[in-house]
Amino acid sequence: MESRRKIAVLGAGESGVGAAILAQKKGMDVWVSDKGKIKEKYLTMLKDGNIPFEQQQHSEDKIMQVDEVIKSPGIPENAPLIVKLKEKGIPVISEIEFAGRYTNAKMVCITGSNGKTTTTMLTYHIFKKAGLNVGLAGNVGKSFAYQVATENFDYYVIELSSFQLDDMYKFKADVAVMLNITPDHMDRYDHEMENYTNSKFRIIQNQTEVDSFIYCLDDEVTKTEVSKRNIAAKKYPFSVKEQVAEGAYKAGDEIIINIKQNPLSMAVQRLSLFGTHNVYNSMAAAIAARVVDIKKETIRESLADFQNIEHRLEHVATIHGVEFINDSKATNINSTWYALESVNTPIVWIVGGIDKGNDYTTLNEMVKQKVKAIVCMGKDNRKIISAFSVLVPTIIEAGSASEAVRKAAKLSQTGDTVLLSPACASFDLFQNYEDRGNQFKDAVRAL
Ligand code: ADP
Repeated sequence: MESRRKIAVLGAGESGVGAAILAQKKGMDVWVSDKGKIKEKYLTMLKDGNIPFEQQQHSEDKIMQVDEVIKSPGIPENAPLIVKLKEKGIPVISEIEFAGRYTNAKMVCITGSNGKTTTTMLTYHIFKKAGLNVGLAGNVGKSFAYQVATENFDYYVIELSSFQLDDMYKFKADVAVMLNITPDHMDRYDHEMENYTNSKFRIIQNQTEVDSFIYCLDDEVTKTEVSKRNIAAKKYPFSVKEQVAEGAYKAGDEIIINIKQNPLSMAVQRLSLFGTHNVYNSMAAAIAARVVDIKKETIRESLADFQNIEHRLEHVATIHGVEFINDSKATNINSTWYALESVNTPIVWIVGGIDKGNDYTTLNEMVKQKVKAIVCMGKDNRKIISAFSVLVPTIIEAGSASEAVRKAAKLSQTGDTVLLSPACASFDLFQNYEDRGNQFKDAVRAL
């Protein structure tokens, strides 16, 4: 008898446990190894599924014996264990690559440096509203592999990070969306933009002329890459700057989605998400929906009634005529640029945290135009202070969300906006960006 295929899953989080459950369902000999402590929820899932595992260690000798490894996107390519596996010729793949082998569903895959979650949720919302049998996967909710094991969807809308794409080889996106490419996670890409760009462009690998590639024509890096590459898929650019033949563009106060010579138009005013970046996200989602022939009216309704997700330009409250906005998810310069751009009043800007190698100069113009005061919310604020002290008259520091909110409220007056858009990671003062956003919201409500 042929022996069962041996699989090791590295990392017992949402994706790893989902992959293990799927592998077991497919009759493979699967084993899970996590170097850290496995969360209670996942321990229960592994035990319930009778899946063998280890935690707080990687038994290398055992891992080196398997036919294939499924690795969590959190483990870097250059981790010694991964390097060893590759040297030995043992394939290392992502959970998405693995699960993609066991479904014939149509895949709508979304990547970019910013806007992935928003666009993924928005696209899913349109597909759902159109009555399609669709699953949502990626960073939100249940893992793709778990859903492939337990559901039978016709479509998936999947958010893909560059880390997931790095371990994808044969997987094909029927519809691929590239939102933008700006520097992020450079520490994982040897500080080479080209490596990061190539990783993002894996989203179109294996596509043929029956597939679709939706991309932002206003994004310089993407535009240059598209002109350099031989892309097999049908291309659908979107732009707010120029008219495109097939794709989406902005004309006056309307967006036009022109697919299959059957244009859909909608007033920007009616979009539920505000700001130029969200015009892009809405265009991308609408093109994906038109590509699979969802009715124009359903798309219009969905773009108008979508409820924004927490911590992304989230309106918190208006107090004494001052609007408070929580954009805690803005953890890099580009996302903060769009946040500042989308506010049309004087801004008291709460910024700071752990700097990931930010170059603040790209914000200079925007800050000069709009920001009246800065509240630095981080342990080490020196870089922000030196970047902006010549541009903004008032820069003060705060060591907690409540202190930042109280100080920002004092600095503002009727008609202003207090914007938390940190451009930095949160781990110096908070557990994560959600914790930062929640503490901000609590502090605003306590004013
Ligand atoms: P991701 O999943 O890629 O991290 P999110 O949808 O969670 O993206 O949004 C993260 C942040 O980026 C938000 O704070 C938002 O204001 C900003 N953002 C959203 N869409 C875009 C875009 N298309 N371009 C630039 N910034 C964006």
